[in-house]
Amino acid sequence: MELQRKDLLRQQAYIDGRWCDADSGKTAEVINPATGEILGTVPMAGAAETRRAIEAGRVAQKSWAAKTAKERAAILRRWFDLMMKHQDDLARILTAEQGKPFAEAKGEIAYGASFIEWFAEEGKRIYGDTIPQHQADKRLIVIKQPIGVCAAITPWNFPNAMITRKAGPALAAGCAMVLKPATQTPFSALALAVLAEEAGLPAGLFSVITGSSTEIGGEMTSNPTIAKLSFTGSTEVGRILMRQSADTIKKLSLELGGNAPFIVFDDADLDQAVEGALISKFRNTGQTCVCANRLFVQEGVYDAFAAKLAAKVGAMKVGNGMEDGVQQGPLIDTKALAKVEEHVGDVLANGGALATGGKRHALGRTFYEPTVLTGVTRDMKIFREETFGPVAPLIKFKDEADVIAMSNDTEFGLASYFFSRDIGRIFRVAEALEYGMVGVNTGLISNELAPFGGVKQSGLGREGSKYGIEDYLEIKYICLGGI
Ligand code: ADP
Repeated sequence: MELQRKDLLRQQAYIDGRWCDADSGKTAEVINPATGEILGTVPMAGAAETRRAIEAGRVAQKSWAAKTAKERAAILRRWFDLMMKHQDDLARILTAEQGKPFAEAKGEIAYGASFIEWFAEEGKRIYGDTIPQHQADKRLIVIKQPIGVCAAITPWNFPNAMITRKAGPALAAGCAMVLKPATQTPFSALALAVLAEEAGLPAGLFSVITGSSTEIGGEMTSNPTIAKLSFTGSTEVGRILMRQSADTIKKLSLELGGNAPFIVFDDADLDQAVEGALISKFRNTGQTCVCANRLFVQEGVYDAFAAKLAAKVGAMKVGNGMEDGVQQGPLIDTKALAKVEEHVGDVLANGGALATGGKRHALGRTFYEPTVLTGVTRDMKIFREETFGPVAPLIKFKDEADVIAMSNDTEFGLASYFFSRDIGRIFRVAEALEYGMVGVNTGLISNELAPFGGVKQSGLGREGSKYGIEDYLEIKYICLGGI
């Protein structure tokens, strides 16, 4: 990997401001999914190293919380500046370990950095309240304080931004954070730690531990010093972590799976809808939790939409994300590939048809052809489960009531999208969709200013925006008597 700052690629964990190996000396390999090349190794740390990081966080957090928000913001701002200064190197590391096209990786670094910038400022606006008293000799005051030492477990699909979205508000609020990045993509996390140190973040406030998910996760969820756990990943693992956190009554933020509906009404601007579908469905090769998973298209425009979308999807360039013009990288691993194959196979076995794609890509490895499927119905697997791959299943619908019922027929409730130019319908449908986020006439909704999060089994809490920092704060009520 050609890096301008070679020291951004670190092969050790970062605990209490020190770079270290696992106590056991064991390591795990990190693989480039596009080439199979071994990029390096990271320590296979476990519970003992996690405990040390938590203890360091406990100590460091006290003086961090005692600083003013402006002092904390100055350090976070430097961290943001360093991320943007080294955007290309960070994106190279990201593409190498994750597979997404380099341009998308650069976009992720800017998106990731934006959370640090935004929350550095937002930390200055953690306001409390005074409440009109109920008795003449009392005064009622509400203040907000950092929750303490927080743990974070992050996924591989956004190896940078899913970290900053948690670390930004946590640190700005005056908390410490112990992070376990995804096993497949630890280098992006460790590079962030290099830059945090360079920005002047005191030791112990942001530790990064690579290694065994179950051991690290087990310690994070059972250790009483951890006041809060923030997790982004599958609903399945979210349930395990929630269960494990019960004994110590932790606060939880969970960003879990989705099953996003993407609805195209007869009155939509079809070209705009096709563009929205490309962004929403095929970004990161379909591996985002807000990716359109079920595309509902109204009868009158179904054939036209299918033809337009298939033409664009069929022309997408697939390959190594470091090559010019590549729009679709590989899937993260063979398990992901198997799921995509299973979903497509199930549609084809049950009467659906291919408009384009439909098999492994000639490039081999975990590359899969960008695919559009027609004739999909609600009894197929792809309707119920998140595919997390470059497959757009098109489902035909008759009317508004019909499509709202189908859209809400899932245990998930993260992102949803629809395209219409009728103002009445826009309000009706936006309000009726049981989702935490609704994109209207757009396939791209995520930014640091807006609250990201889901309802139902898609999770708890919100990230980004003024609401995102609340997840890292406790409310304290002070009752002054004898006045
Ligand atoms: P994905 O399907 O995106 O890989 P996972 O939920 O499996 O989602 O993984 C998300 C994160 O959770 C990763 O960092 C992974 O290593 C971690 N993880 C997986 N299983 C556990 C577990 N039992 N305890 C703690 N962390 C886990």
